[in-house]
Amino acid sequence: MKIIFLNVPGHGHVNPTLAVTAELIRRGHQIIYYNTADFATKIAQTGAEFRPYPNPQPDTEELNRRASNLVNVTTWLLEQSQRLLPWLLAELKREQPDLVIFDSICLWGMQAASLLKLPAVSSISTFVQEGVRGMMTFWDGVAIVRQAVPKLPELFQRRRQLTRQFGPDIFPYSHIFPCISDTNIVYTSREFQPETDFVDDTFHFVGPSINTESRETAVFPWQLLAKDNRPLIYISLGTVYHNKNEFYKMAFQQFGTYPIQFILSAGRTTDIDALGPIPDNFIVQNFVPQLELLPRIDAFITHGGMNSVNEGLYFGVPLIVIPQQMEQTLNGRQAARHGAAIVLGDRPPYGRTTPKALHNALQTVLTTPSYRQNAERIGNSFKKSGGYQAAADVITAVLAHPTPQT
Ligand code: UDP
Repeated sequence: MKIIFLNVPGHGHVNPTLAVTAELIRRGHQIIYYNTADFATKIAQTGAEFRPYPNPQPDTEELNRRASNLVNVTTWLLEQSQRLLPWLLAELKREQPDLVIFDSICLWGMQAASLLKLPAVSSISTFVQEGVRGMMTFWDGVAIVRQAVPKLPELFQRRRQLTRQFGPDIFPYSHIFPCISDTNIVYTSREFQPETDFVDDTFHFVGPSINTESRETAVFPWQLLAKDNRPLIYISLGTVYHNKNEFYKMAFQQFGTYPIQFILSAGRTTDIDALGPIPDNFIVQNFVPQLELLPRIDAFITHGGMNSVNEGLYFGVPLIVIPQQMEQTLNGRQAARHGAAIVLGDRPPYGRTTPKALHNALQTVLTTPSYRQNAERIGNSFKKSGGYQAAADVITAVLAHPTPQT
């Protein structure tokens, strides 16, 4: 059967779909996967036919710049939708797919499938946040209002323009995000998802979609990993928020003399030479094979991106979460609620911490066994959820009994 996959240019949104895509192709389906040219190699590696969005393509850097402001990112997605929809509607009419899969912030994917009444599945790489209560503090609320108010007029204007251009059915639900369908796949476990009435039986919690073979690998000096029993700590702020040289320098200064080995993924655009002298107990690279490393790691100092949280816990690794924005704050707090993480710097503006707080958190996580036990417990709930194979089962079931979107 022919499946069209539509995604946004963000590694966090694409990574969990790679193993699912490869599995569906292994089961004999044809997948045409649309994204920007930056993602061509990693998508083509799954066996899917990669196709770029038409020019001017949605700009990854622009999405990254706006990612920490919910209203700003929504406005950008509305703008992209307005621009891409005429092309996408024509493309889908020409390709006649049996199924459309769209990411839960890929608005144009949901809107096109809905307008053409095509069977569709939503791929949700975050928690389902709609309807979740009790996770935000007063200060989070203040930060949201401050960010949102100046941007709201533009958001409403874009929404009105889309409705004028494509009719009232262009927004099939009262909310915009998450973009959902009659079948929704969430890459975490039901146990780890915060409670919300929004989740019904159209949501399938399949756990993290982890298959090292369908992910890009990276050169890594495995021979430099210590052979003694020194703890091994992994530090990464992900693929978007990694331009944090001051934080990296603070880690060097604080941890440089510890009898512990550290691996720092500094991000693809970070100039490692600009970080100054690197202590002997640090391995620093722009990108590391995270999935291959995690099984060896004793604690993960992370920004709390959903994939990093999921991947760390999948391998039973306790987390120290230093969130750089609101969504990561909630991810970190959920891991902390389950006793598997310590969260630092979760008061807006997020991401501020001190050498002493870092020291104390690392000490606590390494000397309190419950952190690892709880991480392993959540990791087991992930493994039981079935991962990319369960996602492929759900999608295969939709293909067997397709229901056009209502
Ligand atoms: N990643 C990786 N190697 C690195 C840094 C990141 O493989 O050196 C991957 C990581 O495994 C995860 C993704 O990049 O799948 C980061 O996604 P996440 O949702 O954690 O954060 P984002 O980058 O979207 O902020």
